[in-house]
Amino acid sequence: MKRFLFGFLSLVSLAGVSALFADPAPADVATPWVLRQQALYLTGLWSFSLMSLAMVLATRPTWLEPLLGGMDQIYRTHKWTGILAVGFAAAHWLVEMSDDVIKTMIGRDGRFPKEHGSGFLEMMRDVGEDLGEWAIYALLAMLVITLLRRFPYHLWRYVHHAMPVIYLMLVIHSAFLAPVGWWTGPTGPLLALLIAAGSAAALLSLAGRIGRRRKVGGTVESLRDAGAGVTEVVCRLESGWKGHKAGQFAFATFQSLEGAHPFTIASADRGDRRITFQIKALGDYTRRLGERLHQGQPVTIEGPYGRFDFRRGSAHARQIWIAGGIGITPFLAWLESLQGADNVPDADLYYSTRARADDPFATRLEALCKALPTVRLHIISTDRDGALNAELLHQRHGDAKRTDIWFCGPRPFGDALRTGLARLGMRRMRFHQEAFQMR
Ligand SMILES: Cc1cc2nc3c(=O)[nH]c(=O)nc-3n(C[C@H](O)[C@H](O)[C@H](O)COP(=O)(O)OP(=O)(O)OC[C@H]3O[C@@H](n4cnc5c(N)ncnc54)[C@H](O)[C@@H]3O)c2cc1C
Repeated sequence: MKRFLFGFLSLVSLAGVSALFADPAPADVATPWVLRQQALYLTGLWSFSLMSLAMVLATRPTWLEPLLGGMDQIYRTHKWTGILAVGFAAAHWLVEMSDDVIKTMIGRDGRFPKEHGSGFLEMMRDVGEDLGEWAIYALLAMLVITLLRRFPYHLWRYVHHAMPVIYLMLVIHSAFLAPVGWWTGPTGPLLALLIAAGSAAALLSLAGRIGRRRKVGGTVESLRDAGAGVTEVVCRLESGWKGHKAGQFAFATFQSLEGAHPFTIASADRGDRRITFQIKALGDYTRRLGERLHQGQPVTIEGPYGRFDFRRGSAHARQIWIAGGIGITPFLAWLESLQGADNVPDADLYYSTRARADDPFATRLEALCKALPTVRLHIISTDRDGALNAELLHQRHGDAKRTDIWFCGPRPFGDALRTGLARLGMRRMRFHQEAFQMR
């Protein structure tokens, strides 16, 4: 994600900086007025291009999955792109506000005259300025509620639906307030591309068409309380379902008012259009799932998405699979899909659970792994064995020349293992992490 964002920003900066220096303005004279003007344009360009990228990423572009490593990572990138965009928008606003300070410091000499158009153009520049200001306030408010984890997710999701409108306000702002010279230079095609792609994405979102081609209907075939706050839901889907790869996830809408929630498909594809979810009571909606669902009720499934697939790793690397709690779901699908298959990998599966005694998956895991002699199951019951940590993994597997780690579970747990193993010098390690959090 970092490399992708860095590459994107570098490209944008290249176009922006070349436009600044192509400008007849004295870019080489570093007066506060010149610096202010350049900073205003650059922060505006960075913010707008990141905002356009965030809009495109919000459309669930499956064609970007290979580049970014799956839809969960696309959402993570979307989140950080949005945060960076708001950061630059705030900087842009502060630079705009700095003219009074500069005026009192050095006076008006050297100040850039405002660009003026005639008639319609001038009117749109005024409108663009106002829209830009309102959009920045709205973006800052959105950033605060996004980072404020106490703000309920279901409310945040509704508020977040305003983003395409805010983005279209920014399109008008950027299109009419970018220097006229930019449209004829190298930034022209870039701006046009950003506006076209971002606006198309915003309209797609406003029309409710995101993911439409991947949606199929179905019914809840069975429901089971698996224990420890987990509900097993089996859905039978209609003929539009094209199947899934073990490790992928889908958005499930059980009640249209509630909207879609992402869950890993915890079963292998058997070609019968049946998929199983194992859903843990982790929040407002999932806590009352058992009461809300009933057998035979309709469901809409959108997907499949994701690239959590051990086959993507190196053939020569040692495979270490780690699940924390409900993060076992993609591994259940992997193990099911490997039953009776050729080329079962040599792997160690660590399953960390609070208490083995009342765990809903331990017995099933043992049965699945029994038929796969090359997959060694290690159940770590934290009440009895203590927490699974980087030291233990390094002690057991630190001698491997290459290691592919596949992790699914709480983010802090994954982050601790990743940094711990890197600190202990785990050699040539690739750490793949399924992100269960989208906000
Ligand atoms: C790729 C992926 C795979 C997942 N697989 C599973 C699984 O197999 N089993 C399982 O039990 N859980 C899984 N989850 C987590 C599950 O989506 C959330 O626990 C559930 O949506 C919480 O909803 P809530 O309203 O009960 O919780 P809330 O209290 O409303 O939210 C808790 C957190 O859940 C996430 N969340 C809530 N609603 C949504 C939504 N509509 N879209 C995206 N994120 C949301 C947010 O990060 C939020 O902060 C997965 C999440 C992701 C992203």
